[in-house]
Amino acid sequence: MNGNLFATIEGRIADPSRPFLTGEDGRSFTYGDMLAASARYANALVSLGVKAGDRVAVQTGKHVDSVWLYLACLRVGAVYLPLNPAYTPVEVAYFTSDAEPALIVCEGSARNTLASGLGKASVRIETLDGSDGGSLQKLADTMPLEFDTVEAKPDDLAAILYTSGTTGRSKGAMITHENLRSNALSLVDIWQFGADDVLLHALPIFHTHGLFVAINTVMLSGSSMIFLPKFDNDAVMSALPRATAMMGVPTFYTRLLGDTRFDRGAASHMRLFVSGSAPLSAETHRAFTARTGHAILERYGMTETNMITSNPYDGERRPGAVGFALPGVSLRIAEPDTGKPLPHGGIGVIEIKGPNVFQGYWRMPEKTAQEFRPDGWFITGDLGYIDPDGYVTISGRAKDLIISGGFNVYPAEIENALDALPSVGESAVIGLPHADFGEAVTAVVTARNGQIVEEGEVRGALEGVLAKFKIPKRVLVRSALPRNAMGKVQKNALREELARLYL
Ligand code: ATP
Ligand code: MG
Repeated sequence: MNGNLFATIEGRIADPSRPFLTGEDGRSFTYGDMLAASARYANALVSLGVKAGDRVAVQTGKHVDSVWLYLACLRVGAVYLPLNPAYTPVEVAYFTSDAEPALIVCEGSARNTLASGLGKASVRIETLDGSDGGSLQKLADTMPLEFDTVEAKPDDLAAILYTSGTTGRSKGAMITHENLRSNALSLVDIWQFGADDVLLHALPIFHTHGLFVAINTVMLSGSSMIFLPKFDNDAVMSALPRATAMMGVPTFYTRLLGDTRFDRGAASHMRLFVSGSAPLSAETHRAFTARTGHAILERYGMTETNMITSNPYDGERRPGAVGFALPGVSLRIAEPDTGKPLPHGGIGVIEIKGPNVFQGYWRMPEKTAQEFRPDGWFITGDLGYIDPDGYVTISGRAKDLIISGGFNVYPAEIENALDALPSVGESAVIGLPHADFGEAVTAVVTARNGQIVEEGEVRGALEGVLAKFKIPKRVLVRSALPRNAMGKVQKNALREELARLYL
């Protein structure tokens, strides 16, 4: 059997005339169109000399043609390497010198700066944009509509995805065909995706969430998607009546809740809202249910592992929890220093094993070795615990753990308490250098809808709720928290900016 993920996708297409994708401009494509367009791009790649195992680095906007290119890479056995369009030419030069792609695909407007950024390293560059005017698009247009998907072994690389860089420099995660297949098949199953589903796709496609979780799940279930260039309240509101499911980062949901048009009626055609990539506050979860009658289904994953846990489709979707390990995925909570499994209920580092776990970081064997236990468990770097009902709850990243006066303080617990206060919108809790305490618990918060947040009041309100050592020494009020494209709070940026607050 061909281990190529695309062979599995092809094998599941029962009816090529079924819809696959509708763009914002109303253009729509069937599964047959998808097969033909990806074949054209696959033939174009081959004509440019791209071979199985070659990396193809792609930095483009979110275009339909970028989807064809992703699928074409699978079909030729090349390694798809998407890059955030926000990266500067200097950053792209870092990624491409690291990954040594056979081909770089970028927007026409970026071609010259990108080429000069690469300096002496001569890599072939082709262009792709939203207007069909790119050199790769023109080449693909001249190509045959058929292509025999190459044979791949399940453990062959399908993609290298760089992590979000939340805790340091991004690392290239080597992802195999089997990693993607096993994970997407599980998601189709547990989230009950079927041919009549229409996924509202407003996520970026350079990241696991929008690329693999969303698109692979659609393809392996034969469902279709409404493909929006980005999240925009108006566009999402007008697409919701045609959609049945949406996948989003928590900021999508807070933005929808900030829109008075978004109510029970607006969500009445939907059967499922999924959230991930960053913590969804229990407060947002509850507000969403109160407004729409839908309980958001929160799941947890990472670039290195695809999806790890999910709240149940049937059964309680518990606010603040990320649910249970996916079928076939083993999860344990271990002592961070030793990897010794902890008794039930204890907070420790989340470790996993399973067909979803990546092969390692590209050309970083030492880093890879550090992140695996000798017996093969992958150390996620996230802290959490399993409650008596088996739900996993994330307490924060190990790198964000605060040790204040010798006590461990888990940021998520404090953030939950802050978010529950009527005046607080969002919060981020960090540790800052402090002469007496080592680290001082510090909160950065925003105000909820036009309310006034008072530092003294917030601290006072926490007094009855949290032990004294957990109460933030300072509560700083901001108009917004610094977040990246995936809605992740940039705690590193906050720590840097506020490093001298107590010194
Ligand atoms: P880097 O590894 O480069 O520092 P990153 O960890 O943010 O960046 P990703 O792989 O995009 O890069 O993100 C995975 C992380 O996102 C997880 O390790 C976890 O900390 C966080 N995450 C994902 N889903 C959830 C969730 N539902 N709740 C809380 N955190 C989540
Ligand atoms: Mg990470």
